[in-house]
Amino acid sequence: MRIDVITIFPEYFAPLRLSLLGRAIERGRIDLRLHQLRDWAHDPHHSVDDSPAGGGPGMVMTPGPWGQALDEVAGEDRPTIVFTTPAGEVFRQHTAQELSSVERLVLCCGRFEGIDQRVIDYASTLGPVRELSIGDYVLAGGEAAALVMVEAVGRLLPGVLGNPDSLTEESHNRGLLEHPAYTKPAIWRGRSVPEVLLSGDHGAVDAWRHAQSVERTRRVRPDLLPPPPEQPCQ
Ligand code: SAM
Repeated sequence: MRIDVITIFPEYFAPLRLSLLGRAIERGRIDLRLHQLRDWAHDPHHSVDDSPAGGGPGMVMTPGPWGQALDEVAGEDRPTIVFTTPAGEVFRQHTAQELSSVERLVLCCGRFEGIDQRVIDYASTLGPVRELSIGDYVLAGGEAAALVMVEAVGRLLPGVLGNPDSLTEESHNRGLLEHPAYTKPAIWRGRSVPEVLLSGDHGAVDAWRHAQSVERTRRVRPDLLPPPPEQPCQ
């Protein structure tokens, strides 16, 4: 998969060269291309922001550099174009799954008070557009959000994880959080691994894990569970 990132801080993405994702990039499984937005700003200061139309605090990213960057980076391939924004739909595991099936992704990182809306409207002439938020809080820029998305999408690509079974077992894959995990030694600082996990009885292990998943989800994220069935009126 090819992933282009347009940002004023390409250096922000250095951690993606580490570990699993780093290996996938090295092996060419992920073709990560970082673009400096200021390269498309042609004034002496390479400015990419200006005061908001209608007044108000802060600055807004101007359409000129963004338009040229998108024309050049998107090209004719009609990539999926993602704008990172706290005002977008929330990025979830199913969003990562959807994005992992496309050939090309272009991630656009906002800064300041965000990007001129006309850029987002225009981008939809170049490819499908998603406006995505990584959660209900406001970051200083879209780079951290784009980094999260590259990692969440990248690890779903075939051949990136050592053991693809990890993907079916984990949190959010089946609407539940994952059960707690244990390893060796069997007793550590007086705390034991639950006996069932040492029993060798795979059916019992599966049942215990499922019950733990349900219990954890109910306790920590009840919003993930389906609503209880409505009681018929008496
Ligand atoms: N004025 C904007 C608003 O209230 O919606 C916030 C702008 S924020 C300071 C600057 C940039 O950070 C945004 O354009 C976006 O790219 C990024 N950003 C901030 N919070 C984010 C979030 N929760 N998810 C994704 N991107 C975010």
